[in-house]
Amino acid sequence: MIAIPRGTVVLAATPIGNVGDASERLRALLADADIVAAEDTRRLYDLANRLGVHVNGSVVAYHDHNERNKADGLLDRVETGATVLVVSDAGMPTINDPGLAIVRRAIERGLPVTCAPGPSAVLDALALSGLPTDRFCYEGFLPRKHAERVQHLRMLLPERRTIVFYETPHRIAESMDDLLDAFGPDRPMALCRELTKDYEEIRRGTVGEIRQGVIDVPPRGEIVLVIGGASDEEAAAAAPATLSVDELAVLAIDRALEDGLRIKDAITQVAQEHPLPDGSLPNRKQIYAAVLKIKE
Ligand code: SAM
Repeated sequence: MIAIPRGTVVLAATPIGNVGDASERLRALLADADIVAAEDTRRLYDLANRLGVHVNGSVVAYHDHNERNKADGLLDRVETGATVLVVSDAGMPTINDPGLAIVRRAIERGLPVTCAPGPSAVLDALALSGLPTDRFCYEGFLPRKHAERVQHLRMLLPERRTIVFYETPHRIAESMDDLLDAFGPDRPMALCRELTKDYEEIRRGTVGEIRQGVIDVPPRGEIVLVIGGASDEEAAAAAPATLSVDELAVLAIDRALEDGLRIKDAITQVAQEHPLPDGSLPNRKQIYAAVLKIKE
């Protein structure tokens, strides 16, 4: 028997394709929560049917367009002791799905919120990609417009962590073209589709190879892209040019004159404004020595 927390908001993950991934807690919550806030009520009943669970509580639509307005009403019920279950169409609520608004309002109102975790395409794809998992970033969907997508990908060029994107079959070809432009052909990546379903497929290779594969055999269904992070060389090449000690010294002298600062304070400011590629600050003693040399 699984205890249902009363007077609590519970986020619960639902299967992303394979109904066998539904947890015991999800089943118990679907049966016993006082209110089920579901992204799509028809899909909720469909899931409950497939699980053989009867939803005893009331069901409300809770989606991207109404979640801010609905959150407080649901939390009023939590305050009177109700269990409010939040589920999205698939995977973890809040991960490119509704849920965050009620979590934030619950925190602001000091009301309990907990989670029955489970499937999410991000972690499934990351684990299957074979790329480093120790540090990764989740980027959600790429921007729809070409120009914004290109700009966004350029910004990610020096990113050293493994990068995870969600993608749709109708945009995958364009996105792969832009990925090739931004990252070049050699970065390792994985295209993961239809995870947990009968036609699950993981294509592993370089950006160039996966792009060609997308042209040859367009992937259908739901897709996650996982891209290897930048190597030391790629990160250094993409990072803004580092100033030399002499250039920093000239900047510090100018700053001291313009702002009426002591030279040591000007050096501190300039050093902080120009970190090295690894994030550390340039050596202030070396800049000071260069300042003295210039002044001589
Ligand atoms: N909340 C979900 C989660 O935790 O994964 C994500 C919802 S988002 C609206 C839907 C996107 O997730 C899809 O377009 C696809 O990129 C990815 N996705 C969901 N299920 C998937 C699956 N079975 N295989 C591959 N990607 C999936």
